[in-house]
Amino acid sequence: MSDSQELSEQWGKISLALRHEIGHSIFESWIAPLSPMSFSNGVVYLKAPTGFARDWVTTHYLEEIFSIWRTVNHEVLCVEIVVHGPSKPVQIQAFDSVSETQNEPEQDWSKDGALDPRFTFENFIVGKPNELAHAAARRVAEADQVTFNPLFLYGGVGLGKTHLMHAIAWHIKKHSPNRRVIYLSAEKFMYQFIKALRFKDTMAFKEQFRSVDVLMIDDVQFISGKDSTQEEFFHTFNALVDQNHQIIVSADKSPSDLDGMEERMKSRLGWGLVADIHPTTYELRLGILQSKVRDMGAKVPLKVLEFLAAKITSNVRELEGALNRIMAHSNLTGHTVNLESAQELLKDLLRKHDKRVSIEDIQKRVSEHYGIRASEMHSAKRIRSVALPRQVAMYLSKNLTPYSLPEIGRKFGGRDHTTVIHAIKKIEALRTEDAGFSYDIDLLIKILES
Ligand code: ADP
Ligand code: MG
Repeated sequence: MSDSQELSEQWGKISLALRHEIGHSIFESWIAPLSPMSFSNGVVYLKAPTGFARDWVTTHYLEEIFSIWRTVNHEVLCVEIVVHGPSKPVQIQAFDSVSETQNEPEQDWSKDGALDPRFTFENFIVGKPNELAHAAARRVAEADQVTFNPLFLYGGVGLGKTHLMHAIAWHIKKHSPNRRVIYLSAEKFMYQFIKALRFKDTMAFKEQFRSVDVLMIDDVQFISGKDSTQEEFFHTFNALVDQNHQIIVSADKSPSDLDGMEERMKSRLGWGLVADIHPTTYELRLGILQSKVRDMGAKVPLKVLEFLAAKITSNVRELEGALNRIMAHSNLTGHTVNLESAQELLKDLLRKHDKRVSIEDIQKRVSEHYGIRASEMHSAKRIRSVALPRQVAMYLSKNLTPYSLPEIGRKFGGRDHTTVIHAIKKIEALRTEDAGFSYDIDLLIKILES
């Protein structure tokens, strides 16, 4: 990435993804005012209009910006939000913040910068849905010998897997500073491995991992399907288990449900303790909100918290997003938020949770948008002028309704679920390639959800 045009193109892509992720109104308030300034030595500088905006974006959205940026450009090692120029940086560091040309072993994966200081046991609220996972994580953190190996944590997005892993790392750092802990995402594990292959330095790569006391690999579902990395992971895993070193792995599914993972790996992953995190309950959500408000020293009426806990049920990340929005508002205006203003502020989020869009609605809207007959949604025709709208409608059905892939397939003229998967992948790919197309899809989503 050299010139500023390329930088703004990347920022364009990231903005689109972010808008989708955090919602239109937050995006407009906080992200739209940012502009890309420069990129050098792996650091991207984004300019914010005020110091307050810089601090707010840094605490709430920098991680998100950074991780999306990494998917667009692997050369980016750090994103900084600044007001004037790159002077007083606040940064999030990649675990693998080493330049491409350096090929000595990389020692800085478990640098504190890699661990989120908020993700500690103290800040983790325990409830029925996560008590097993929490107890297991505590046990592993506190034990000086290996009890179950590996500890496999799994659950849906935003339910606290990463939080628990960081909490383990913080605990060990504090109480047994001599133990070597490495935490990294499966994606980074793969990236490091591929890099080592390129520099013909796989020995050092292997040694790194094999000399740790505790190895944590987050979101291991991303390793599925990548044969050589799976192989390497398997060997590293076995070597560590043989030497009685602790491994902790997280994924979005149970070991046996990990698609594209070799059988021997699945069975190996299930050898120790498998702990799942269930979707949150109302009590847990309320508990989490109360603790966050307390920690921030903010004033949000209980009524508003109860309302959020009842309405925003998908995952803790969204719940926090809603609370942040409310706190940002009272911060800016100086007023405490009441039930009415909360409803107004969170209109888009709440609608998403309230309204059930039907597949028929989607088919009708999409057909209108592309100027085809609604019956084409069920037809066998494959010409692009009808195939693309049909794929868009399948994609939206998956994203906006609770129907399963086979159910969706049935509603589109009795198609197979693999056809639906193909459609979703295709539209996702198109969305990353073509900003105009992606914008259209966002519009359709907005229309359907309103
Ligand atoms: P996952 O890795 O499972 O997708 P994260 O660990 O990133 O989820 O959690 C998403 C957000 O929700 C984080 O900010 C985390 O601190 C918060 N969170 C999740 N569960 C809890 C909990 N039980 N108590 C407090 N915060 C939680
Ligand atoms: Mg996670």
